[in-house]
Amino acid sequence: MAKKIQAIRGMHDTLPEQTPRWQHLEKTVSDLLQSYGYGEIRMPVVEMTELFCRSIGEVTDIVEKEMYSFEDRNGDSLTLRPEGTASCVRACMENGLLHNQVQKLWYKGPMFRHERPQKGRYRQFHQVGVETFGLAGPDIDAELICMTARLWPALGLKDIKLQLNSLGSSDARANYREKLVEYYNQHAAKLDEDSQRRLKTNPLRILDSKNPEMQALNEAAPKLMDYLDDDSRQHFERLRELLDAAGVEYTINPRLVRGLDYYCKTVFEWVTDKLGAQGTVCAGGRFDGLVEQLGGKPVPASGFAMGLERLISLMEDDNVVFPTRPAHAYLVMFGDEAEKLGLQLAEQLRNEVTDLRLVMNCGGGSFKSQFKKADKSNALFAIIIGEDEINNGTVSMKNLREKSEQQTVQQSELAEQLNKIVRG
Ligand code: ATP
Ligand code: MG
Repeated sequence: MAKKIQAIRGMHDTLPEQTPRWQHLEKTVSDLLQSYGYGEIRMPVVEMTELFCRSIGEVTDIVEKEMYSFEDRNGDSLTLRPEGTASCVRACMENGLLHNQVQKLWYKGPMFRHERPQKGRYRQFHQVGVETFGLAGPDIDAELICMTARLWPALGLKDIKLQLNSLGSSDARANYREKLVEYYNQHAAKLDEDSQRRLKTNPLRILDSKNPEMQALNEAAPKLMDYLDDDSRQHFERLRELLDAAGVEYTINPRLVRGLDYYCKTVFEWVTDKLGAQGTVCAGGRFDGLVEQLGGKPVPASGFAMGLERLISLMEDDNVVFPTRPAHAYLVMFGDEAEKLGLQLAEQLRNEVTDLRLVMNCGGGSFKSQFKKADKSNALFAIIIGEDEINNGTVSMKNLREKSEQQTVQQSELAEQLNKIVRG
């Protein structure tokens, strides 16, 4: 029997009843980013595999086991992007956006990771990412954090908390890494399988373990904060000062290390306890070394990415009310002549009434069935054209959302009536 064709596991359709919530989220985010002066950049979803291996790091979860990589028809190894930062850096380098200039950029779109699908974790998911280039100070880190802090109330979301840490310079981290390896080697028997592997490849990531049994061991581990270099320490202190001045609350989480290799100095996560182990809705930090790592001149950089599915899920759980845009009118018509006049009238009204949202009944039907559809469409008014209306040069109008009598309106006055409804 032929295999049933269906969507790939962990990849989902977004149906028309769900898209208004997505559109609201995306618009709120893009309006906010624009208001801070950030420009949108769009990159391809497929890149050379090498880009991700070199930027994210060979021993990260993403590169080790989560990438969708394949050979194209030329035999080149390509990868569906698992995140946006690497592509954004590549695009900026390639288009000369990093030379002696500051960039404040954002992007949105699908990302792909071969993970075990569960609530808040998918194989195709969506991120909005923000990246800044050419700014080395804590002021831009503070701006990025303030911007995200403003987003949650704008979306009607509560109880999303900020965690902050500093990863220091790469030298400081190397130094700390040694101390950490020493510590975990002393407790080797208590390490779970993932952590044993990470001890050899990427020991800092053990701190990021989601396994509750690792928690006590991780809490007692040496703290990166105690090994920071002076420059990173000052950067971190100034960032805290700026956040305090702006009234942004945070806790310092010494075990916050982030999954990707390219971070340094500031790292942060916005976390909720409502989504279980998938509680991070936004994560970011500074990645001063990445441009150079990809072959460019060193450029300081800082950014974050947020997971839209997780935000949607929170909006659903919190029953966040958002503006909907139902049609102003639904056009009901009886008979061939009425349909002809209706189409003509509808197109004319669309010319004359700016922003009009008008749904025309297609496919005919009885009075009852057309009204049922009008009601279901959530339109505010029904406009009715039948034989009488044709003969009298009128239409009938009925408010579908309030109990009221049907009204007769001259066809010549319909545009004016609808204009009033559209302008509210
Ligand atoms: P996690 O620790 O949850 O795996 P991560 O460190 O891999 O997250 P990042 O690469 O920093 O995540 O991605 C930024 C954000 O994108 C995450 O905080 C999360 O909100 C979202 N995200 C990451 N992976 C997924 C996924 N597989 N499905 C849905 N959202 C995701
Ligand atoms: Mg991950």
